[in-house]
Amino acid sequence: MSQDFYKKILDNNKKWVESQLALDPDYFKDLSKGQQPPLLWIGCSDSRVPANEIIGAKPGEVFVHRNIANMVVHTDMNMLSVLDYAVNVLKVKHILVCGHYGCGGIKASMGNQSIGIIDNWIRHIKDVYRMHEEYLNAIVDEEERFNRFVEINVQEQVFDLAKTSIVQAAWRNGQDLTLHGWVYGLNSGYVTDLDVNLTSNVDLDEVYRLKL
Ligand SMILES: [Zn+2]
Repeated sequence: MSQDFYKKILDNNKKWVESQLALDPDYFKDLSKGQQPPLLWIGCSDSRVPANEIIGAKPGEVFVHRNIANMVVHTDMNMLSVLDYAVNVLKVKHILVCGHYGCGGIKASMGNQSIGIIDNWIRHIKDVYRMHEEYLNAIVDEEERFNRFVEINVQEQVFDLAKTSIVQAAWRNGQDLTLHGWVYGLNSGYVTDLDVNLTSNVDLDEVYRLKL
């Protein structure tokens, strides 16, 4: 990060505060009272997929968790903590997994190059590839295969969310909670709704359905 850029972001913050206060002198005072976002966003860390901006959400409207390739890994305490807080304390109504075309994490998972410690994270994505290997390997066009895998990975992460004890307990308790999967187009700005809208565990394979 150049010094110029560093100075610019500090200045930007001051300008942003001033512009918000010009619109509403109580803006920060009101925000500091608490949050009640209706949505938990699970997205990729990619700098080109900023959660709030692409859905026009204001501060206070979206609770955010991001990691490489928008993964729901069941031993990830960070993700589980965010999910638990979002569902059980904030009582979000929607959880959205948003992947994106051109995802570097997905691309890396489809190859064999070692990158470092991240290989161990990317292995979780490879596990998803293996589940759909026959379908994906049959797609001759590389770009097409990449795009389909981005979509399939999002769908699998939505199902992985549904498999968590946190989400299944919320459904068992009658909580209004819907899971969704989207893919964002880096070169268009538009999202595609993959139409995986889960509101109960009935769509899960029997072995994943918890008796709570
Ligand atoms: Zn990505």
